[in-house]
Amino acid sequence: LLPPEVCNLLNPAAIYANNEISLGDVEVYGFDYDYTLAQYSDSLHSMIFNAAREILIQQYKYPGEIRKYDYIPDFAIRGLHYDVQKSLLMKIDAFHYVQLGTAYRGLQPVPDDEVIDLYGGTQHIPLYQMSDFYGKGPSLKQFMDIFSLPEMALLSSVVDHFLAHSLEFDQTHLYKDVSDAIRDVHIKGLMYQWIEKDMEKYILRGDETHAVLTRLVNHGKKLFLITNSPFSFVNKGMKHMVGKDWRDLFDVVIVRADKPTFFTDRRKPFRKLDESGVLQWDKINHLQKGTIYRQGNLFDFLHLTGWRGSRVLYFGDHLYSDLADLTLRHGWRTGAIIPELEREINIINTEQYMHSLTWQQALTGLLERMQTYRDAESRQVLAAWMKERQEIRSITKNLFNPRFGSIFRTFHNPTYFSRRLVRFSDLYMASLSCLLNYSVNFTFYPRRTPLQHEAPLWMDQLCTGCMKTPFLEEMVHIR
Ligand SMILES: [Mg+2]
Repeated sequence: LLPPEVCNLLNPAAIYANNEISLGDVEVYGFDYDYTLAQYSDSLHSMIFNAAREILIQQYKYPGEIRKYDYIPDFAIRGLHYDVQKSLLMKIDAFHYVQLGTAYRGLQPVPDDEVIDLYGGTQHIPLYQMSDFYGKGPSLKQFMDIFSLPEMALLSSVVDHFLAHSLEFDQTHLYKDVSDAIRDVHIKGLMYQWIEKDMEKYILRGDETHAVLTRLVNHGKKLFLITNSPFSFVNKGMKHMVGKDWRDLFDVVIVRADKPTFFTDRRKPFRKLDESGVLQWDKINHLQKGTIYRQGNLFDFLHLTGWRGSRVLYFGDHLYSDLADLTLRHGWRTGAIIPELEREINIINTEQYMHSLTWQQALTGLLERMQTYRDAESRQVLAAWMKERQEIRSITKNLFNPRFGSIFRTFHNPTYFSRRLVRFSDLYMASLSCLLNYSVNFTFYPRRTPLQHEAPLWMDQLCTGCMKTPFLEEMVHIR
């Protein structure tokens, strides 16, 4: 029996803290552009998929039959890994284990025992094969950006076609061609054109972005923008969201920054663009408000602005390209924009989810306590509970995505994605607009969650998050 207050306890518009941070101490706010200041509609995904599929056929001479594959919107989730040699798309947890039941080749699931066989009798992926900091290991790639949703769907569709027709192919070429085709959609500016043509349709929450920026400026905060996108595109989007004077809000604007290299390589100096977008050759000794800069690097940026350490809070949607280096090398505070959070919280808030999670926890507790009974009858009961627990775990997982589950959890463990999120972000939220729910001097205190050896000291309700915890109730009413 669930207490009535269990459901709808989490607020999808709240900001969640991994690390304590007081906004009162933050003087300077930095932003990425795409999917941070500008949130885009999911309808772009199927357009990216279709355009990249066409590039594969026209330019890379892939068989025209792959046209029969349409975009499957909920095929994959962000943060999955792809083993290029084995053509396996799968979800990996914080301990480098494949979550069984979440390995796919093409569009088909791969049985657990085959996955275990493929990795030499274990479902553990050794560290040297895993990703580097930017998700690009020697044989495993991690899909981290939001474009990777159409990319994974396209990759799986093409693999599916080749396997179904027993066509011999080189896995490395296929992976690279698909990823180049997706990149072409971006680089050739197709996506920019679609968005520019109908900003009303594709840019979401523009008014709220406007409200966030003006509120910060009205409270004396300094703002800057570092984006990899070109100025003309950003300019049109910002005019649409904020108005023609948007540049008055920002102290520094940097376009085509080439992140993440921007954060790590000190060699590329800043260049100035004139009003018509032409690059200037003069040396940059100051970063001036109203001027548009291109390239550059963070080391020069720190030197020229003096904006160092925890006075700066930077928001981005890409854990590696936007946030990892800032946290690890430069000590800025970081905020991650994770649009999936909204949908996942809405699922957690349902009675169905709370019911299956609570029952799953209850069964796990029973199993732990009763495992000492070894007589035949007890063993039968234990086996039945174990089976039921397995079924419930699958049901809970499938509420998020029928193939891969939640982007944050693999059954009870955090995902590889979650671990990186916790490591690289001080705050995380579904959208920048969540900032509107807090005062500019608000201090975010992360919930103290028990370490395993502390858990027995915690009351059950604190551990499960099921019952009342201080302040959570008020957070429900924030919006
Ligand atoms: Mg971005």
